[in-house]
Amino acid sequence: MDKKKVLITGAAGFLGSHLCDRFVKEGFHVIAMDNLITGDIRNIEHLMNDADFEFINHDVSNYVDIKGDLDYILHFASPASPIDYLKIPIQTLKVGSLGTHNLLGLAKHKGARILIASTSEVYGDPTVHPQPEEYYGNVNPIGPRGVYDEAKRFQEAITMAYHTFHGVETRIVRIFNTYGPRMRLNDGRVLPAFIGQALRGEDLTVFGDGSQTRSFCYVDDLIEGIYRLLFSDYVYPVNIGNPNEITILQFAEEIIKLTGTDQKIIFKPLPKDDPMQRQPKIDRAKEILDWEPKVSREEGLKITYEYFKSLTKEDLYKKEHNNFEAYIKK
Ligand code: UDP
Repeated sequence: MDKKKVLITGAAGFLGSHLCDRFVKEGFHVIAMDNLITGDIRNIEHLMNDADFEFINHDVSNYVDIKGDLDYILHFASPASPIDYLKIPIQTLKVGSLGTHNLLGLAKHKGARILIASTSEVYGDPTVHPQPEEYYGNVNPIGPRGVYDEAKRFQEAITMAYHTFHGVETRIVRIFNTYGPRMRLNDGRVLPAFIGQALRGEDLTVFGDGSQTRSFCYVDDLIEGIYRLLFSDYVYPVNIGNPNEITILQFAEEIIKLTGTDQKIIFKPLPKDDPMQRQPKIDRAKEILDWEPKVSREEGLKITYEYFKSLTKEDLYKKEHNNFEAYIKK
């Protein structure tokens, strides 16, 4: 029997590449798509010789053409770091809106089921804590994160419209902060920022007073949740994340302990619209998917640190982003 075919967009990115691994392992034929503006081909290089893996370099904001049958689509293409939103705001808006529209059209045409990657950013700087799926959010449409947040909110709206109006089989996952091997060392996000700083012998930069919270999920747990959601029959959004909440200051202290360095913590201004609290309510995922995270932060951070240690000096010193000041300017 022919293998089921899955298209994964954003395949060379952090989450996309882990999805590629999982679907190849589960016996699917994987079509991996990426335009490599934030993705890194090295994340999927190890799959390139597999007969059931193919890579297409394409920007999904333009018409997507796939030959033959297609059973599933996982739409994970998007810049995903606050600094990226400043550097490439229009692409961020386009991939969430036009890109999603193209992929929904493809799903409709092929009769494929589509799962789209949404985000805890649809809740903005939340006034409800922890955040349940019923919460509508508190988003500033014209702030620095607006290009991502609003694109993702539009993405959810058009996905539900394709479901109700065209009967397309859709799934929506709202992803909370996730970490693990293959995160981009210099993408500005807190975990690679802190580990990179520790490895370079620099001070750790905590933004604000560090009292803002996040809840970090190890990538394997997230992938398992997404896998279960795709094969469930649930069409409404599902939060996937780890409810174990920590302040950013505590997190910096954990990273210093983990890396065994004696770096200092220095404080920088808090970026505009930086959410003060974030913690997923995961009752829905527990009930519908029988899913909850299994990997402790201690365990996950150890594996992630080993990965970052294995990178080259060139990676460690590569400056992808030098507009920090613009990012933090109020
Ligand atoms: N942060 C920090 N120092 C850094 C990078 C980030 O204190 O060098 C903070 C940031 O202000 C935010 C949290 O860490 O409060 C998580 O930031 P990240 O960019 O990883 O993702 P977010 O959850 O804000 O989208």
